[in-house]
Amino acid sequence: MAVRAFPIQSDPTLLADIRQYGKFDTTGCYQCGSCTLSCELVSDSATFPRKSIRYALLGLRAPLLRGLDPWICHDCGDCSITCPRQAEPRISMITLRRFLTAQYDWTGIASRLLQSKAWYLGSLISIAVLTFLLIVGYHLWYVGMAAKDFTTTPFGLEHMFPIITYYTLVVVLLPLFLLLSRVFRIWRLTMAGESIPWFTYLREAWVYFYESVAQPLLRKCPEHRRWFGHQVLAVGTILMLSIKVFGLHWFQTDNIYSVYNPQRWVGYLSAIFILYGMGDIFVGRWQAKKEIYKETHFHDLVFPVLIVLTVLSGLAAHILRYAGFALGCHYAYALHVVIATPMLVIEMSFGKWAHMVYRPLALYFLAVKERAAQAVTAVEAVSHAI
Ligand code: SF4
Ligand code: SF4
Repeated sequence: MAVRAFPIQSDPTLLADIRQYGKFDTTGCYQCGSCTLSCELVSDSATFPRKSIRYALLGLRAPLLRGLDPWICHDCGDCSITCPRQAEPRISMITLRRFLTAQYDWTGIASRLLQSKAWYLGSLISIAVLTFLLIVGYHLWYVGMAAKDFTTTPFGLEHMFPIITYYTLVVVLLPLFLLLSRVFRIWRLTMAGESIPWFTYLREAWVYFYESVAQPLLRKCPEHRRWFGHQVLAVGTILMLSIKVFGLHWFQTDNIYSVYNPQRWVGYLSAIFILYGMGDIFVGRWQAKKEIYKETHFHDLVFPVLIVLTVLSGLAAHILRYAGFALGCHYAYALHVVIATPMLVIEMSFGKWAHMVYRPLALYFLAVKERAAQAVTAVEAVSHAI
């Protein structure tokens, strides 16, 4: 494998650029390496967090962008506990992931959202307001309701099912498309220039799926409950998205089913898994190593709040429908759509959900690099023997 050579050129603006995305405290760091020694996830091919921090300090933009290490970090915080200078390497890794997320996004929107609370909140609120106006407009002009009937007419939900099906597909599939469109850009930034045969990519493709589903690195974290909570959350989220993309016709109905009907239980299980996973992550963070988690970033808090509100508003609509409160159900459902839309459009495209794609992708690319390096070593060994 031909390894790409970088021109050694220091970029004095790099550190300031990174700090636009959060705290990156390097003033106290004296490069002792204790953080790297304490990290359970360090390997020969991934020696973080010190290496990435050093690239940033030296202004080495290209090697930093090319690096996949920040995505391996699972935010356990051991390095921050070990650091003798309280330089918070864990926080530096979080900031680096945000910085990289912005570099991967070709639209430039992620950069705006991750740098500014005002942009982030403004975009969430704008999409929520736009969704609300769409709902009102739909009822006034498409259904032909008079404004005075909004508080008195207890419709069922049936009339909106055809439109909401297309709407849901757009708000789920568009962010998914945006996310996947960045895969090529990530490849170009991190892998292009290394002549790795295409069959090595094919051979290691299983790594992407294995890392997505089993999250084995998270299992290595000393706090094992984190792995379980994340797994439950992932199952609940995938179930919810599958219902929205593939099962909406079956799921959206005004029919009242018996409590034994699987249609009800698929929805209940998805809600229970998401609420359990979120609750476990919150409680786990609160109980364990509280002091190192005190600096949770604003963006990281909004996502769990939105996902919990989405689930609760969906459950409220369901309960009100089964209890026979058609008007209340209508309002709860409208609220559900108003909360879920910005959560899907912003968070799935540019926020926390993006990590669910980038992390396994980084591990897959690392596996490809390692496999290619092994092949080169084997060929060299054979040629030396000859
Ligand atoms: S443990 Fe702290 S001081 Fe030592 S290299 Fe890591 S960040 Fe720097
Ligand atoms: S937060 Fe945990 S996983 Fe991440 S670099 Fe520090 S010790 Fe390693």
